[in-house]
Amino acid sequence: MIVPKIAANYIERGDEEAIILEIAKKAGIYPMDYKFNACPVNQIVEEGDEVRVGKYVLKVIETPGHCIGHVCYVLEANNKVNLFAGDVIFYESGNRKEDEFLDYLTEPRQSELQDLLNIILKRGHAKRNEAYQLIKANGTDLLELLKVSSLLRDQSKGKTVTYSRKVFIPLTNMCRNTCSYCTFVKGPDNPDAHIMNPDEVRAKLKQAEASGCKEVLISLGERPELRYEFTKKWLNKLGYKRMVDYVYDICEMVIKETSMIPHTNAGALKVEEIKKLKMVNGSMGMMLESNNPNLSVHRDCPDKHPMVRLNTIRYAGELKVPFTTGILIGIGESLEDRVDSLFDILELHKKYNHIQEIIIQNFRAKKDTKMANSEEPTIWDMVRTIAVCRLIFGRQMNIQAPPNLTPEMHQLFLLAGINDWGGISPVTPDYINPEKPWPNITALNSVCSELGFTLRERLTVYPEYVYDADFNQEVFTKRIYDFIDERKLVKEEWATC
Ligand code: SF4
Repeated sequence: MIVPKIAANYIERGDEEAIILEIAKKAGIYPMDYKFNACPVNQIVEEGDEVRVGKYVLKVIETPGHCIGHVCYVLEANNKVNLFAGDVIFYESGNRKEDEFLDYLTEPRQSELQDLLNIILKRGHAKRNEAYQLIKANGTDLLELLKVSSLLRDQSKGKTVTYSRKVFIPLTNMCRNTCSYCTFVKGPDNPDAHIMNPDEVRAKLKQAEASGCKEVLISLGERPELRYEFTKKWLNKLGYKRMVDYVYDICEMVIKETSMIPHTNAGALKVEEIKKLKMVNGSMGMMLESNNPNLSVHRDCPDKHPMVRLNTIRYAGELKVPFTTGILIGIGESLEDRVDSLFDILELHKKYNHIQEIIIQNFRAKKDTKMANSEEPTIWDMVRTIAVCRLIFGRQMNIQAPPNLTPEMHQLFLLAGINDWGGISPVTPDYINPEKPWPNITALNSVCSELGFTLRERLTVYPEYVYDADFNQEVFTKRIYDFIDERKLVKEEWATC
C-alpha cells in the first residue's frame, strides 16, 4: 500500500478511531459490520515523490482539504496529463474513483505510435521525424498505420480508384545510363537496340485507339545520342540531332492523327526541353527513384543523380506541367532515404502545386542484370512505404503502386492508401518489365469492388488539372472535355473494360 506520511501510522495499526469509522457507519457510508483491518504500508509518500506502477511514473501532489495529508497522483503519459484525485472533488471537474484508477492502469493502452497516428489523422499529414518512425511500424502499429492512411485517402478520394487506359510507345531502348536493375536498356551492340520509326508508332496508335486507349505513354532511354555514335547516326537518318526533337514530332503526330493525349517520360530534361514538350503533352513524368546520390545501382548514370532529377521536377513546376514522379524502393536506399526522397518531392509540390501523382514502385530482381540475386522489398516494406507516403502527402495526393509488379497484393495496396493504379495497356506490354503482364481490367475491377471501391478510368491529366488553363495546352481542351464527365473522370460511355 502507498500512503501519505500522516496516514501510515493508523493504517498499519488498523486504527478505526483515527479514521472516525463509527461516525461514517452511522451516516450509512459504511455497513455497520465493516471492519477496518490493519494493512502493511509499502511506500510512504509526500509532495514531489514519485511512484512507479509498471512503466508509468506518478507524481505525488498534496491536496489537503478532504482530510489532512490527502494526496493526488499525476500521470503524464502519451501527451496527456491525468489526475488520480481519490475522493477530492475539484470545482468543475469529474472525480475519478479508486476502482477507475485501477481500471485505467490495467486496461490495454495504445502505443505511443498509435497516439501519434491519431494526431496525424487530425492534422492531416506527417512531419519528417514522425515519418522516420512510422516507416518502421510493426504489429498492431502497422495495422493502425494502414487504417490512418486509408482514412486519409477516403476523406478526399472516397471509394474511387482510378487508372489510365494507355498505349506504351518505347521510342528507343538505348540510353546513356546503365542502371544495374534495368533490362529495358540495350547497347548498340545488341541486335535488339532500336529506335521506333514513325510508321511503327503509327501502327501502335491505330491499334490503341481501336482498343479505347486515351493516353499515349512515350517512354524512352535517356539521351542515348550523347553516348553512342550508332544512335546519333540512326537519329540523323530519321532527320534529328536530338532525341527530344524526335519525341516532340511523335507527340505532334499523336495529336494530329488520333484523339489520344501524349504523356512523355524521357527522363531528366532541361528547362527548354520541358518547355517545348509541354506544348504537345497533356502531362509528363519521371521517377525521382531516390534522393541518395551514392547508390551503387546508379554508378555511371549521369541522369540518375538526385540533383539532376530534382531539377527536372523543379523545371516542370516552374513551367506548370502536371507531373508524375515517385520512388523506386529496394535499390540499396535506407528507410530514411525513402522518407527524405518523398519530402524532397513534397517541397517542390508545395512550391509549384504540379505533382499530380506519386508512384511507389518496388524493385523486382531480373535475370541477366547485376541485381539478379538482390533481395526484393517485402510486401510489408511496400505497404509501409505506400502508407507513409499517404501520410506525408496527406488526403489530396494521388498515389499509385504499379499493379503488374505484385499482382497478388492489390488488396493490400488499397488498404495501404493508394487511389490509383497508373497506366494499364490493353495493347502493349510494360516494356520496362515485360515479364509482368498488366492486370485484366475486369479482374482488377472485381478486386476493387470486393473491398468496396469503384474502379474508374481517368485521363493522363488528373482531374485536379483538367480545367486549369495554366497547366493545360489549348490543343487538348476539346478532347479533354469530350472525354470527361462532371467528376472529371472518363465518361462511362467512353470507358472500356
Ligand atoms: S532504368 Fe531508365 S535510365 Fe536506367 S538504364 Fe534503364 S532506361 Fe536508362
